[in-house]
Amino acid sequence: MDNQEIRNDFPMLIKHPHFIYFDNAATTQKPQSVIDALTNYYENDNFNVHRSVYSAAERTTQMFEACREKVAQFINAKDNKSIIFTAGTTQGINQVANGYYKYHLKKDDEIVVSIAEHHSNLLPWQNLAKQNGAKLKFIDINNNGTLNLNSAKKVITDNTKLVSITAVSNVLGTINNLAALIEIAHQHNADVLIDAAQAAPEIKIDVQKLNPEWLAFSGHKMLAPTGIGILYGKKELLAKMNPTQLGGEMIEHVDKNDFKAKDIPYRLEAGTPNVEGVIGLSKAIDYLENIGMNNIENICKNLGQYLYDQLSKTDGISVYGPKQRQTGIVSFNIDKIHPHDAATYLDFNHIAVRAGQHCAEPLTNKLGVNATLRASMYFYNNKHECDKLVQKIIEMRSFFN
Ligand code: PLP
Repeated sequence: MDNQEIRNDFPMLIKHPHFIYFDNAATTQKPQSVIDALTNYYENDNFNVHRSVYSAAERTTQMFEACREKVAQFINAKDNKSIIFTAGTTQGINQVANGYYKYHLKKDDEIVVSIAEHHSNLLPWQNLAKQNGAKLKFIDINNNGTLNLNSAKKVITDNTKLVSITAVSNVLGTINNLAALIEIAHQHNADVLIDAAQAAPEIKIDVQKLNPEWLAFSGHKMLAPTGIGILYGKKELLAKMNPTQLGGEMIEHVDKNDFKAKDIPYRLEAGTPNVEGVIGLSKAIDYLENIGMNNIENICKNLGQYLYDQLSKTDGISVYGPKQRQTGIVSFNIDKIHPHDAATYLDFNHIAVRAGQHCAEPLTNKLGVNATLRASMYFYNNKHECDKLVQKIIEMRSFFN
């Protein structure tokens, strides 16, 4: 893959050639094809969906529904009725908590998460456990940051109703062994929710092979606009889910006292949806598939490994997570320099990295640090940018010490 050819597709990267963007786990840049699709939508196809008989709105509805089919294929879902449009991973997980498990958990039932979850896959379960009297339990990680499957075997029991786990840690960049975890959970008849916020952008997902009950991800972390996400659910569970939003377009009919909801997916998508987001997501998937998810995974993994190796051999740097890298996410600390000072120094040098707890405070506590720096790379980044980062860190150390 020619890196410059790829970069040419991203206006932000071309317009700001000296800017190094290493915060892709927060959000990704958008290719021209996605930007053009949004402009085209507003110039030619800006009509509401599912409600009008005029042909222009019909056309927009068809584009919208074609994306549902495209997403189903992207994650290899059997049926596009399993695909619910949401605002993002956070909304998808909250919808599962408040629309489904709120009504299916009783006192002393267990919800299991890992210690390495993003707050979006922790707070909804903390809240629900408090409301329903359920127990929230944690799977530990190994010293090198990978998921501890022995801990999973101990923590998951016949009382466990749901295991909700990230596919990729947004701090350590590790890919969890989901196949093994799902097998353990299913042996105990527990459901599994996969937080695929960091996985969907980098790794081919196959929900038929993995067989989770639920899976959620965000468009903006995989080239699409903000405010659009996907919740996948097994049809029989979605059919039992209570809508968390009520209103237009989700109903069969309404009288003064009551309503009859439509079938899935529409009963779970009340109100005017994010049409431009869906159209942008469709183009984003086209772009990713054109590069190829296997190629994307390899590029990101190789960049992650390269940066990890370069940082590891630089004096005064602690890098977190295993030696064998699996994704483009690398978290580290620089001896005697607070991550926020380091990120500010790097910002003066046009390098964007994240500093802090990355919305995973229990994990940073577990690592025994207050905060880390995080460089998260996507397939349009390159080794030259990694070298620049390392060079600026070396300069920074002599500046501060
Ligand atoms: N889960 C993980 C692992 C994440 O990294 C993120 C965002 O960084 C989220 C959930 C939340 O995604 P969003 O803010 O798009 O809802």
